[in-house]
Amino acid sequence: MVAPPEAPLLSLRALREQACLILTEAGIENPQQESDWLLIAALPVKRHALTLDGDQHVPPSELERAMEMVNRRARREPLQYVLGTQEFRSLEIAVTPDVLIPRPETELLVEEALQSLLDVRNPVVADVGTGSGCVAISIAKECPRSTVAATDISRPALGVARANAISAGVCSRVRFFQADLLGAFARGAFHAIVCNPPYIPSEEIDRLQPEVSRYEPRQALNGGEDGLAYYRRLLADTPSRLRHGGHLILELGYLQAQIVKNMAASTEDWSSVLCRKDAAGIERILVARRA
Ligand code: GLN
Repeated sequence: MVAPPEAPLLSLRALREQACLILTEAGIENPQQESDWLLIAALPVKRHALTLDGDQHVPPSELERAMEMVNRRARREPLQYVLGTQEFRSLEIAVTPDVLIPRPETELLVEEALQSLLDVRNPVVADVGTGSGCVAISIAKECPRSTVAATDISRPALGVARANAISAGVCSRVRFFQADLLGAFARGAFHAIVCNPPYIPSEEIDRLQPEVSRYEPRQALNGGEDGLAYYRRLLADTPSRLRHGGHLILELGYLQAQIVKNMAASTEDWSSVLCRKDAAGIERILVARRA
């Protein structure tokens, strides 16, 4: 009997070329870099093997895993969902399509929160809409005197956040609550309230890049008709939950700073309202001090 012909084994070099071609044709901006990241995640090879050991053959099961990841990315699923992780400050944050992928600008939100806590002995902080938990967990990690209450309306998101808190070794100081914004928290409970709310105007979401509009949770993006719905609610709800002298620290969407600053300045709740720019020079973080 003649054995059926076996599919020829693909070399690592050929796989690398094919993966890069697939991503190029899919319109991915850095196809070589991204295909290399995907191959390193899918195969038991180190980065240098991709260039130095291209002759080695890729076993079929590994080939299948690699191609599955490359094809997901070619359908414009975000690289972070395919890899399952995103770096954020000092942490590797696990991400799934249930949570927003942490953005570099949000690292500034953490920085401002930490700054506001410098003089507080044992700070109690709320992170509203915690998503992956990146903000709450970073604060707990970088301010070991703090305890953090992290809320989200999405139960699956809380599952991801809780797992991240465990991996980061801070689960004893971060508590998770399923709640719409601050839910039933007591008056004056917090030294700081931080939030990166959904702030994209509803109509604009479908015009964003497919990675965002097709894959990231709409609930985490949608800021209502004008993108400002959560700022209105947060500015109304947070003053009573903050201690006097406590801080509300919010991430802002593109060109929203002036409007949100004006909203805050139109009440007697805040003794100061400042904005901080991001690396691109856009006013990105609002810091309001409770009167
Ligand atoms: N707090 C999370 C983050 O900053 C999630 C924010 C959101 O879903 N809008 O990434």
